[in-house]
Amino acid sequence: MLDETHDAGRKSWVESANGHADFPVQNLPYGVFAPEGEAPRIGVAIGDQILDLAICAERGLLPPHVVDVCLDDTLNRLLALPVKARGELRKTISDLLTRTSFRGSLSDALYPAADCVLHLPARIGDYTDFYVGIHHANNIGRQFRPDNPLLPNYKYVPIGYHGRASSVRPSGEPLVRPKGQRKPPEAEVPVVGPTARLDYELELGVWIGAGNALGEPIPIAEAADHIAGFCLLNDWSARDFQAWEYQPLGPFLAKNFQSTISPWVITPEALAPFRMAQPARPEGDPAPLPYLADADDQAHGALALTLEVWLTTAKMREQGLESLRLSTGPASSMYWTVQQIVTHHASNGCNLQPGDLLGTGTISAPTREGFGSLMELSEGGKRAIALPGGETRTFLEDGDEITLKASASAPGRVTIGFGECRARVLPARG
Ligand code: MN
Repeated sequence: MLDETHDAGRKSWVESANGHADFPVQNLPYGVFAPEGEAPRIGVAIGDQILDLAICAERGLLPPHVVDVCLDDTLNRLLALPVKARGELRKTISDLLTRTSFRGSLSDALYPAADCVLHLPARIGDYTDFYVGIHHANNIGRQFRPDNPLLPNYKYVPIGYHGRASSVRPSGEPLVRPKGQRKPPEAEVPVVGPTARLDYELELGVWIGAGNALGEPIPIAEAADHIAGFCLLNDWSARDFQAWEYQPLGPFLAKNFQSTISPWVITPEALAPFRMAQPARPEGDPAPLPYLADADDQAHGALALTLEVWLTTAKMREQGLESLRLSTGPASSMYWTVQQIVTHHASNGCNLQPGDLLGTGTISAPTREGFGSLMELSEGGKRAIALPGGETRTFLEDGDEITLKASASAPGRVTIGFGECRARVLPARG
């Protein structure tokens, strides 16, 4: 899958791209953006600029069979392109942004990203959230069942639930603290009001490309062909609502009030140099059942990503303090690969569609430095976290801002990043 678009020596004539932490010419993620006061259109992030793909299409610079989809105002049809066509488009864009002969003719097709609004990249038909972060599942399970953190199904079934697509929002859009029903431990009956235990969850988002027909499962060997990209996903959670409502049917209003995603779709092609083996299961764990087992997927199905969570508070910003990194860890702490969750999702014939979004579930490292939620970092609210400037946190307060980041690195390769997944907490509405 590696070709000249991955060469570490490739430089762009867009100078800010060379050495850019997220968007060098080896990345080329797709998004939907609008220059100030203009209509949304499809673009590619390059350094601190955005290349307008609609202009490239209109000028006859793109492969003829993708011109149509590049003139859309969502990525749904682009995500649905066959893998080969997506690869050709990537090669073309890489050439446009590296050959200096295009510098003159495309200078008016570039917009400073800072002057643009980033929209949701696709119309999300359905959103499903999984629970494949093994250390997160252990940490949370242990808070409820100290001797038996994982339920017996965990090592056989990639656990998931259907989330809410309508409340997925792009990075930058604030989160209003939700109200709901919770039952404080000392109370006889539940109360209704703003959540007192607002949390974030560090997750990877998976964009579905080509779908499957209703009734036709996706074989594990073909699952990668149905994945069109990745993003960061903050699955905001109200832990007090969750504890009260989730049995026996699982997450509901504790989760669906909002989820924030990073707006750039990082393609499987861009991530090809950063594939790694799925970590071996601990001794004694069952092997995946045959429909989830594939030697190739086990050999290359995980991603060498480093994930980070950052916090600033209103007081920290007032005092001019730097934001605080709450955690960092690898994305490989997943018990199932993204290909396995796609295959499992469709295994009963459920039809996935282009632009569907899957969340992996919270990804935590084995140790505290890499815990992906405050529920874990604060041990369910028992251990306060000290912040610069003298504040402490167990859960999020109004004015707090959470930013998720991800980057992919490998020896001899140019590091690429995902861009930000950021949102600030606003007070509950009166
Ligand atoms: Mn989640």
